[in-house]
Amino acid sequence: MSITIPFVYSANAAPAPIAAVAADRGSALGAAVGSDILVVACIALGLLALSAFANVWIARRESRNAARLARSRAAGMHDLLRTMRMAESIAGIGVWQYDPRSGTQQWSDGLKRLFGIDPQEEFVEGDAETLLFANDIDLIGKVREHGTETDPYALQFDIYGFDGIARSISVHACNLMNAQSEIHRVVAVVRDATEQVERERELKSSREEAIHEAKEARILAETDSLTGLANRRRVMAELDRMVIDARVTSMPLVLVMFDIDRFKRVNDTYGHPAGDEVLQQVARIAASQARDDDLIGRVGGEEFVWIIPGASDNMAQVMSERLRQAIANSSGVGAVPNVTISVGYTCIQAGDTALSLFARADTALYDAKDSGRNQVRMAA
Ligand code: GH3
Ligand code: MG
Ligand code: MG
Repeated sequence: MSITIPFVYSANAAPAPIAAVAADRGSALGAAVGSDILVVACIALGLLALSAFANVWIARRESRNAARLARSRAAGMHDLLRTMRMAESIAGIGVWQYDPRSGTQQWSDGLKRLFGIDPQEEFVEGDAETLLFANDIDLIGKVREHGTETDPYALQFDIYGFDGIARSISVHACNLMNAQSEIHRVVAVVRDATEQVERERELKSSREEAIHEAKEARILAETDSLTGLANRRRVMAELDRMVIDARVTSMPLVLVMFDIDRFKRVNDTYGHPAGDEVLQQVARIAASQARDDDLIGRVGGEEFVWIIPGASDNMAQVMSERLRQAIANSSGVGAVPNVTISVGYTCIQAGDTALSLFARADTALYDAKDSGRNQVRMAA
């Protein structure tokens, strides 16, 4: 604002209009000076008044601007909050904030919704603690465990909301540190992971089911269905493995092969089901003779093997003889006839394979048959 001053006072020369007035009235010099001072005082007062007015006007304008700015900021904040709420609702997330120094926590509307709480309802901090406690969620304890972490970390909880709905929630939290590297706030985004967890559980359970089924299928594929013993496929695989083990450890290994004598007659006389029962009885008796590390298998119609790791020649002879006697003495239970077996066995030699062991034991078995059956023979 510019202020125009109509008269200018000078100590050396009075301005023309003032001098003229003084001359007209025939006043003395003192009167003329007194009048000048008055004019100057008036002007000064006027200037002061104008300056005061200008200051008031500027102050009012600034306060109006500040109020307008505050209003616009408040509107902006309100808009931001509304957008945040919408985003929370659309994404199904909530925000949890925690101040470890004061122990206070803040729950966003979205977080309340995840716990089945109407965001409109009054909610105090005590409610939050009760809710976490009721759900057995030691969120604060878990956060403390991650107290020194500067990278975001993830937690997972199963909760039971106030609305009675069970949910799985995933928590991605981040510690905000101050200049002294102390946590001054923990901010966590909480997400409803129920569907994802459910899908993962289903996936896990079908994977476990598939593994179980595959295991069952493998057992079935390696088991003789009539006797429950290892079948030929498993016997050959295990024998291969045991031959390698014996070679590596230089431990002895014995293969015993036994065959029911005149079994065809059993079938012919008593029928096929009775023959099956005899096979099962022989399998049971043989299994009762075996040790934990041994393997008994059915490798043909009425032909069996007994693999004995760690057995010497003498032990093999004793064990084979014991088996022969056990079958001869204990078979024939119920409505089926008593049977005998012929036994051939062999001990591992340098350069042996599963097949060479098999072949030698088979020769010994036929030697026992040729010697009149119900005999034990060691391979040459
Ligand atoms: P050997 O003393 O020389 O061994 O005479 P064997 O009669 O026992 O031998 P052979 O090879 O002549 O006959 C075996 C019989 O075993 C013929 C077959 O019908 C029978 N057999 C094979 N598998 C089964 C089965 O699973 N169940 C029944 N019941 N019989 C079977
Ligand atoms: Mg036979
Ligand atoms: Mg046979």
